[in-house]
Formats: sequence, structure tokens, C-alpha cells
Amino acid sequence: MAAIPFHQAPHYYRFMIGGAPATVVSDGVLPIGQAVKLFPNVDYGVIAKELEANFLPEGEVLAEQNVLVAEVNGKTVLFDTGMGCLNRYGEIHFGDTCGKLLHNLSAAGIDRFKIDAVVMTHGHIDHCGGLVAEDGSLNFPNAVYYVSKTEFDFWTSVDQPNAMQRDVARRNLLPVQDKLHLIDGGEEFLPGITALSTPGHAPGHMIFLIQVAGQELAFLGDLIHHHVLQSDCRREFAFDGEPIQAAETRVRTLRKLAVERVWCLVFHFPWPGLGHFVQDGDDRFRFLPSPVKMLDRIGRDDPHLVWP
Ligand SMILES: [Zn+2]
Repeated sequence: MAAIPFHQAPHYYRFMIGGAPATVVSDGVLPIGQAVKLFPNVDYGVIAKELEANFLPEGEVLAEQNVLVAEVNGKTVLFDTGMGCLNRYGEIHFGDTCGKLLHNLSAAGIDRFKIDAVVMTHGHIDHCGGLVAEDGSLNFPNAVYYVSKTEFDFWTSVDQPNAMQRDVARRNLLPVQDKLHLIDGGEEFLPGITALSTPGHAPGHMIFLIQVAGQELAFLGDLIHHHVLQSDCRREFAFDGEPIQAAETRVRTLRKLAVERVWCLVFHFPWPGLGHFVQDGDDRFRFLPSPVKMLDRIGRDDPHLVWP
């Protein structure tokens, strides 16, 4: 038997926002297709060169799914849900590497029954697909829920032509409707959590600014997907519903976050997805990952951060 087992360490990372505990919890890795198909307007030679220059493999792009659980001014809040049990949907197979949130929440010592609020950036499968379990029960039964009104109306409409996303939205959002708050951009809908409207990837896509005791973190959802191949933020991306609008929103929003030096958590970026954006040309931005802190505020006064 090999001395080193093959399974990966538990996928959670503890950190602090304004002195309150927060955890990035993985829903697993999502294969999003060949790099050549992700940027329909960019010559593949350009993509291949960027991959090579950045020591990244060609072929299938693997996106992380960095879900956030944070204590925000007395509430335990889950930001996006991951794929849930929908890693297999009819003929569409997203792979066995997705749908790990409940397992990893449990590994992180987070009780899903104690989640007070579930906040979703948009209605896509990997962001709201984890509300309802396979048997129809609620994964976070004691929570209230927040999503943009535009997203709810768009994806749950019986006229929505994307049958897969429509069915996912209806299967997950309709059962929680009596505790679902439909919000608009600009609203501080929970103390310390403000929604910013960022349409393009999806019509009602929102990012969330989280403020605790003077420290800020922005949860970016699907504003941007790839840390290298989207350094040029005008590049059109295959999974953006309205690619030109999405690029416009991406440039405008990242410019603001870079100028204001806002700390960010990016859902699909390399684990755990925390870092800052800096402007690197007109429409170009670089992502500077925050160092993972192994020895930050351990023990003593903080039972959440105890070295094992
Ligand atoms: Zn999405």
C-alpha cells in the first residue's frame, strides 16, 4: 500500500472578514469544456500561447466552485449553492467531481440546519442547484433565500427556452418561494450585504459586497471565469448569455474593484479564489491571489480557528 493516499484534503478554507469567521467551501471541480470552445471570437493560437506562457495545460478547463459561508453581523450566510445533486441532469453529465458542497460543509464543521440565509448571484445550475436534495427536501431548511427578481422571473418562466436551466431553476427556486426574497441591485438586503447589479452573464446577475466591522469582501459569482484567459476582459465568453454586455459589465466592475482595492472571492477561480484585481492596461486586469494563511489568529480567543 502506498504511504501517501490518493484522496485530496478536505476542501474548506477558514479565514476572517472583519474578525468574524468565514469559510470557502468547495462544491468540487467543474469541467467547463475545451479552452478552444470557450472564446468563440479568439483565435485558438492565441489561447494556446497564453496557456503555455502561464504553465497551464491545453484541453479541458477545470473551474473550481468556491462557495462562501460567512458570519455577517450575526447571521450565517451561504453565498451560492453549487450543483447539489444535479451533477447528473438527464443526458447532461457535469461529472462526479461536482456536487460536493454538503459533504465539504460537514467536513468544515458547518451545520447546514444553522444556515440563516442563502444568497445567490444568479439562477444557473451551479449557483442555485443545491437548494433542494434529490428526494425534494430542502438542504438548508431554516434559511431565508435571496436572488434577483430578474433572475427568478427569467429562469423560472415556462417560456424560458433553455430547458435545462429552466427546469433546474424551477426545481430549486419554486419550493422555497414562500421564504424567497426577490431583490434589486443597490439594495442592502441584509445588514452588511449589498447587491450590485452586474448583468450580462445572466440578465439579473449580481455580485455582493459584504461588510463586517469595517472590512469588505466582494463575492463575484460569475462576473469572470478564468484567471488568465480573461485577463483581457473584453474577450467574449461562451457561457455569458449576452457576451458583449457581460464584457462591458466585467470591465466596469473590475475597474471599480481595482481602484477601490476591494478584496474579492471569485467563484470559479483557482482554489480558494481570494485575491485582488489590479488594472494592467485599458481593459486588462491581473488577479493577485491572497496568500493562504495557515497560522492566522489561532486558538485562544477564537474557537473557530484552533490548530488541530
Ligand atoms: Zn453562471
